[in-house]
Amino acid sequence: MGYSVYEDRDAHDHGVSRWAGYGVPAVCDWPTCSTEINRGLGFKCERRYMETEDGEEIEEDGCGLYFCIEHLALGCVPEHDGFTPKPDTAEWEQWMLTDESWEPWRQEHPEVVAQLRQRHDLEKAS
Ligand SMILES: [Zn+2]
Ligand SMILES: [Zn+2]
Repeated sequence: MGYSVYEDRDAHDHGVSRWAGYGVPAVCDWPTCSTEINRGLGFKCERRYMETEDGEEIEEDGCGLYFCIEHLALGCVPEHDGFTPKPDTAEWEQWMLTDESWEPWRQEHPEVVAQLRQRHDLEKAS
């Protein structure tokens, strides 16, 4: 791990624990969209500055979710209203469970690891 991966605080505010950073593969948070992105800042809906038709500069707050270029470009309000963060992909969780670089993290968070393992075992069994 490293600076390219960190816990997603915005998602945490929505009651979802997941990871963010450009090293994290994900899908667009638009409910019906499955475009693959990563949770880097380039895909994050953040505070941004826009120009109105009168050439006035306005500031728009972002929702903190991650979208593909197409859905990011729609703007946050009202397009992203009521969306909830999608959970991490199975691919990513598998990586956290197996990659060597995550060994220190696994040792520090045995409960989270146990939960992830349990979920993956259930998926395999079903
Ligand atoms: Zn999308
Ligand atoms: Zn937004």
